[in-house]
Amino acid sequence: MTPAGSGCRLRIVAIGDELLEGRTADTNSNRIQRALGQHLTRAHDVQVVPDERESIAAALERTVPGDLVFVCGGLGSTPDDLTREAVAAWAGVELRERAPLRERLQRRLRERGLPVPAGVMKQAQLPAGMEPLENPVGSAPGLVGSLRERTVALLPGVPGELQGLLPLVVAWLEERTLLPMVRPARLWRTAQVPESAVVEMCRPVRESWPGLRWSYWLTRWGVDVRIAGEPGSDAELDAAADAIDVALSHRTYAREMLPLPLVVQNELLKRGRTLSVAESCTAGLLGGALTDAAGSSGCFRGGLIVYANEAKQSLAGVSESLLVEHGAVSEPVVRSMAEGCRTRLATDYALAVSGISGPGGGTEDKPVGTTWLAVATPTATFAARYRFLADRTRNRALTVAVAIDSLRRVLDAADDVDPFRDDDFWARRR
Ligand code: AMP
Ligand code: MG
Repeated sequence: MTPAGSGCRLRIVAIGDELLEGRTADTNSNRIQRALGQHLTRAHDVQVVPDERESIAAALERTVPGDLVFVCGGLGSTPDDLTREAVAAWAGVELRERAPLRERLQRRLRERGLPVPAGVMKQAQLPAGMEPLENPVGSAPGLVGSLRERTVALLPGVPGELQGLLPLVVAWLEERTLLPMVRPARLWRTAQVPESAVVEMCRPVRESWPGLRWSYWLTRWGVDVRIAGEPGSDAELDAAADAIDVALSHRTYAREMLPLPLVVQNELLKRGRTLSVAESCTAGLLGGALTDAAGSSGCFRGGLIVYANEAKQSLAGVSESLLVEHGAVSEPVVRSMAEGCRTRLATDYALAVSGISGPGGGTEDKPVGTTWLAVATPTATFAARYRFLADRTRNRALTVAVAIDSLRRVLDAADDVDPFRDDDFWARRR
């Protein structure tokens, strides 16, 4: 096999008509990139091709000796699954059935009491020169090997199966030292600050360490920053990292790939504190996000979906007079929602949100995107007004992100420190 130096290039071929017709987003390429992200800063290219032999062959022809080629999709048993044949034809090798694979497939079907569907035994075949990796989730094995001086991995398209197999492929590559050297990198995950502000905060550090590779990107929770260097540049990275820690300060919620809700969950669990939510405009999205990670039952008690004013009154105990006087999207109402929720669900903390997500419903003093947020703690309640400028879906997603981050800031400070004291919350300046 061709040894992979640091020059080894990752190429991804994602196969499927559905990917080119807008029915399915190509998330698999992203998973592959992430699985190898430590080793390669970026994939050399991603080719998305239809379920056609010629297109698959043409994509493979664009790879060169020494490449690390991941091909995903088309390993199933239906007639449009052509990856095995196409790869074998491109490599000039034959497809061979492996008896253990056939037996495993038959056993899986028997255990489920299913008949053997036509075509399923295709999955017991593999191009000569490749070996199977047992699929921990589904029936089609992953296939790995060396073909025409490329290291090739074939993976099923079903995202869960691909994700189950990826660590096995990475381990297989590692054992054979087919992966490039790990490129050292450092990561910051920030929330509530716009990308342009994050870039600006990092600018002096970037100017001091111009040799590092800087990247910034938007996530569901905010903006991530990463610096990467050549193998062996750890000392330089650590020095720059110290400066970035200072520059980003409390805006950083994680230094590793943890989702924001999990950071908050871990903090609540560590302290043995509990949380509840009262949601108007997000109607459950906030509670959903806070229960994404396993273990959430250790701190999350529940939530009130108080979409209508009547529900705000009956479920969260907001008084009619507050609603009449200030409107549902207002500081007094959102404070009352948070406090009512905290009391009624008997939790240490409560988050409340009420906003106008759009596209309709805005007024002159409360335009679309206006959102009030409150955090009730054992000793105080903090509230802030935001103004999001996106569409309904994104406004609601932003509400969820800033609400969770506000609690994170409360937890990071003392309970009685206003999490909204800083002036760099982008959404509040408008
Ligand atoms: P396949 O292995 O080609 O039969 O793919 C099975 C299913 O996985 C497809 O019907 C898609 O729903 C999904 N899928 C295939 N390729 C991708 C991809 N690149 N990203 C996300 N989902 C995919
Ligand atoms: Mg397919």
